[in-house]
Amino acid sequence: MHELTLALNIVQILEEQARSRQFNRVKQVWIDIGALSCVEETSLRFGLLSATRNTLAEGALFHLVTVAARGWCHGCCQAFETRQHVANCPVCHSAQIQHERADALHIRELEVE
Ligand SMILES: [Zn+2]
Repeated sequence: MHELTLALNIVQILEEQARSRQFNRVKQVWIDIGALSCVEETSLRFGLLSATRNTLAEGALFHLVTVAARGWCHGCCQAFETRQHVANCPVCHSAQIQHERADALHIRELEVE
């Protein structure tokens, strides 16, 4: 299950942060999910529930926000934002486009104590 691995990675990052920033408890976490990452929010929430058990993030509130992915068009040399895989540039309709390989998840903000 892909989402459980992601959830375990998130907990690992939080534990590393706790060591370097010296906090004991995570209260809230804001996570950006790339629109093209294929991460299913429900599965991720479920994964987080079990991954955070008995950790510093147990009971933390996770805010999952889907963010647009970015693409680049070689036809008109412009960046564009997209929430789905597109075959053509939304501006000039060229097929010479490239989707930015964004990270699936990105922890944007933490509330800790
Ligand atoms: Zn274009």
